[in-house]
Amino acid sequence: MRATKAVQAMLDLLPAQPVSGWTEALVEAGLHSQGLKVNRVTVYRALNRLVEACVLQRAVDAGRITRYFLASSGQPQAVPQLECSACHQHFKLGENSAAVQSALRALRQALSQSTGVVNPQLDISVQGECAQCADPAAPSL
Ligand SMILES: [Zn+2]
Repeated sequence: MRATKAVQAMLDLLPAQPVSGWTEALVEAGLHSQGLKVNRVTVYRALNRLVEACVLQRAVDAGRITRYFLASSGQPQAVPQLECSACHQHFKLGENSAAVQSALRALRQALSQSTGVVNPQLDISVQGECAQCADPAAPSL
C-alpha cells in the first residue's frame, strides 16, 4: 500500500484520537482493523507527511515514545496558535515542542482536577514577534 492511500485512510481514523495521542503502533492497528494492509514504514511515512502538512503534531513523551496529536481545533488537546504580531505570519512549534505539549497536557490535567471539567479545551494564542521581525538582519529561515 502506498503512503498516499494510507494518508487517506488515516484521515478517517485519526479523529478518534486516544487521549494520550496516536502512536505508530496504534495507527497501524487501526488501519489493520479496517482491513488495510500497511506496514510500519508506510505508516511512519504517512505520519510524517501529515506532520509536514500540519495535520498532526509530533511529541516525544518521557518514555521516548513518539506520539502524534491532531492539530485541528476542537480536538481535546491544546494547540497553541502562534502568530507574529508584526508580519502576522503563523509559525510552528520547533524542536522543543514536546516540552510545550507536555506542559499543556499537565495544565489540562490540573484544570480538570481543580474544576472537575472533563477534557478541558484550551484555546491558546501566543503573541510576539517572529525571529525575522525581531531581528530583520537575521538570516531568513
Ligand atoms: Zn514576523
